Amino acid sequence: MKIKQIILKNYRNYEQEKIKFASGINVFVGKNAQGKTNILEAVYLCASARSHRTGKDAELIKDGHSYYQVKIDFSGKEIDDQSLEIKYSTKPRISRDIYYCDIKQNRIADLFGLFHAVIFAPEDLMLIKDGPAVRRRFIDVLISQIKPLYFRNLQLYQQYLKQRNHLLKTLREMLYQKKVNPNSFNEDLYEFNLIQLSIWTEKLAEVQTDIIITRQAYVNKISNYAKESLAIISDQTEILNIKYKTVSGINVNADKETIFQQLINRYINQQDDDIQRGNTGSGTHRDDLEIYVNNNLLKERGSQGQQRSAVLAIKLAELKIIEKETQEKPVLLLDDVMSELDEKRREHLLSAFEQNQVFITCTELAQIYPNFKGELLDENESSFNDIENSPMVSLNDSENDLKNALNLEKGNDYIKFYKIDKGTVKPQILLQ
Ligand code: ATP
Ligand code: MG
Repeated sequence: MKIKQIILKNYRNYEQEKIKFASGINVFVGKNAQGKTNILEAVYLCASARSHRTGKDAELIKDGHSYYQVKIDFSGKEIDDQSLEIKYSTKPRISRDIYYCDIKQNRIADLFGLFHAVIFAPEDLMLIKDGPAVRRRFIDVLISQIKPLYFRNLQLYQQYLKQRNHLLKTLREMLYQKKVNPNSFNEDLYEFNLIQLSIWTEKLAEVQTDIIITRQAYVNKISNYAKESLAIISDQTEILNIKYKTVSGINVNADKETIFQQLINRYINQQDDDIQRGNTGSGTHRDDLEIYVNNNLLKERGSQGQQRSAVLAIKLAELKIIEKETQEKPVLLLDDVMSELDEKRREHLLSAFEQNQVFITCTELAQIYPNFKGELLDENESSFNDIENSPMVSLNDSENDLKNALNLEKGNDYIKFYKIDKGTVKPQILLQ
């Protein structure tokens, strides 16, 4: 997949910006807090409907405004001219509209599967360090990009869970009133609500069975790919394993019917507790991934370096799975990562890219391009008149480590530089 251009309106520190991209490598250079990550974040939003930094859409709106808009024009393997647009508004009411090829989509779920991106960013370490929600989100976004129906199941699950919890609260309230005022207790209504509860429980278990089976399959895939990567990065000294942790007592390797029955039994056994608490005590909304290196839980016993390597291996697994299952080359977003990686990890990361369009941020060009000897000049200050071609600079093969590593074919081998300065984007000319 290749993005041709992006339009940002009131997004973070951008008021209105249209950026045309190179189909190879796009490099964003700028000091801290100028808006480099904001551009990558906006691209990622189009693949996952969510920022990699926050779940709060309102934070993405430029201060003092009431909406943001992000639109990308992109091409895929099958379809050349596509566009995706997200508009989020807080006035007159909170709304989020999604357009694919300028046609309004009914649901957020419709966005998944249209455009694929993988981001490598400092926030990735949260995958190891933070709580289960981050790891659930990681696997959910990954699977949703490949199987939009899975996202629909997640939404259904949330709906059923809400209904079930609502009913549990009603039952709890009825039992409380029975204690306070036994005469007021309506036995028939209580029984009727219990029947309702069993209906919601069944729906919940049904959709959950699919979620569990899918998550288990993808955790296995991630674990296998990531294990391979980590072995290479660590010279075969570190063995990575990822285990899927779901509702206790469920055999995740069993067949569909068995998992469903195990879930139903579990809900029947815990029904009184659930009623007392007024919510559903167990379910896939509590799932987690356990990440082990050499049989040690990485979160508790891993060194900083081990955590970094493992997270890189997991992200590369994400990339490989998306590539394999969608048959598309996802757009790669590399935020600040090159400067944080040592030579070996950096090489391994770059060796995984082939023909992908890459977006990369840095504060100094030397971070990503150690042999760089040229100079960047604002495009509009240069003497080039050919506006269409001037920003696309073909680099000398022997000099360009990044391009060689990316293995870009001739004819497609161009790179574009942008200077990012206080929410403005200035395409650059490279002078050698
Ligand atoms: P670094 O090199 O430190 O990572 P960066 O160039 O990647 O910096 P970004 O994270 O892209 O920086 O942008 C940060 C800037 O965006 C900050 O100046 C911040 O104040 C501004 N910003 C973030 N959210 C908003 C918003 N909702 N409205 C206006 N400005 C915002
Ligand atoms: Mg940044």
